[in-house]
Amino acid sequence: MKAILDKQQTYFHQHHTKDVTFRRTQLKKLKAALQENEQLLYNAIYSDFKKSEFDTFATELALVYHEIDIARMKLSGWARKKHVSTNLINFPAQSYVIPEPLGSVLIIGAWNYPYLLTLSPMVAAMAAGCTMIVKPSEIPASTSKALLKIIAETFSPEYITVVEGGVSETTELLKLKFDKIFFTGSTAVGKIVYKAAAENLVPVTLELGGKSPAFVTSKANLKMAAKRIVWSKFLNAGQTCISPDYLMVEASIEDRFKEMIKQQIEKEKFDLENENYSQIINKKNFDRLAALIDQDKLFLGGKMNEEKRVITPTVLHKVSFDDAVMKDEIFGPILPIISYTNLDAAISEVKKLPKPLSAYVFSNSDKEKQKILTEVSFGGGGVNEAVMQITNPSLPFGGVGASGFGSYHGEHGFKAFSHMKAIVEKPNWLELPLKYFPRSKRKLWWIKQIFKI
Ligand code: NAD
Repeated sequence: MKAILDKQQTYFHQHHTKDVTFRRTQLKKLKAALQENEQLLYNAIYSDFKKSEFDTFATELALVYHEIDIARMKLSGWARKKHVSTNLINFPAQSYVIPEPLGSVLIIGAWNYPYLLTLSPMVAAMAAGCTMIVKPSEIPASTSKALLKIIAETFSPEYITVVEGGVSETTELLKLKFDKIFFTGSTAVGKIVYKAAAENLVPVTLELGGKSPAFVTSKANLKMAAKRIVWSKFLNAGQTCISPDYLMVEASIEDRFKEMIKQQIEKEKFDLENENYSQIINKKNFDRLAALIDQDKLFLGGKMNEEKRVITPTVLHKVSFDDAVMKDEIFGPILPIISYTNLDAAISEVKKLPKPLSAYVFSNSDKEKQKILTEVSFGGGGVNEAVMQITNPSLPFGGVGASGFGSYHGEHGFKAFSHMKAIVEKPNWLELPLKYFPRSKRKLWWIKQIFKI
């Protein structure tokens, strides 16, 4: 791994990746390679956790292609030197910022969207002009192999290398002095990455998880809320970092809303025959999720097939913050409903949990929307919508507090892998004597006046 990084650093210092045309060409090559290998990608992910072709395209590849297209289209503007105003103390001068690639970076992916979560940061790093080692999650083994094959066939290893492996390989990688580490995964492993990076003072972006709430108030369009919540929660069998983890539902509409959720789940026919309903990734997670289903609180679902690793969409009601299901991120098709009578009290309960990656507000009241959006801290989210914020590259995607820091997508991704080098450039025709010896009261007076402006 050290040898790969050494080669990548040499390649970086030969300035190949600093050329914007080079970056655009490589992004085009990436898109072409992915398109040529789409069937391989579909087969790999289906064998890992039966994710369908439709879902793989709509929730992974389409977003990666969109990121590539935007980066290719906007790269010249992003990478351009940008002039900023110059203050009086520097007169006469020009001031500008030069975006500079950070260098040789490490990207570590999570398993739940194995293509999106490795390729999307890769696109950002390529746009910024970095070289990179990419470590996909080892859990979906076939997708990790597919990525290795495609990247190895498309790029030279001194530019981009995929390294496969789990804890021991990642631990070795984390000892190396990269110029940036971009990590997607759990909060617990995020802490390990952050500590290892600190040893070498390597900057990090941490894209972590958390318990993302969705508030449903009596002022919501309940039918539409049920539709959007069911889609976003059970997409990928609930194994989505930004899906609503639990619902805070106003008590006066709880029964009506639960009925609508039930109807929507029935309409979507989530069962073994539904080819768009993913498996739970592995036995360990299946067992963990099965243990969270409290039969006394079961409103709907809870049917399981251990051999096929499928759990039908499950709704728990009469849930409290003390229940096991409210202790950690669920990351599966279980939707707990907590009812509330007072919005202030509900918000303060939500705020006792670590800051989540997302939060959602289903309400048509401006007052309620504003209240929740300003009082609850979270990475990003939606009003009368869930999960779709991830599809807009103009929005920064990232967490806050325990759900991580830093962001990416579109220009935000370019910036995540760039350093903004700040320059003041002066002509030689004028030099005021103020900064030189001898110091005097008069000069001090002048400096004070100039800094006031
Ligand atoms: P994880 O933290 O277990 O693994 C992520 C990566 O870290 C993998 O590549 C894995 O090989 C590596 N890893 C695991 N243990 C390690 C260790 N001890 N030392 C070094 N490296 C290690 O996460 P996961 O199970 O793959 O993904 C699920 C978590 O990721 C959830 O919490 C979810 O919310 C979060 N997530 C966040 C986002 C986001 O964009 N913010 C996206 C997807 C998933």
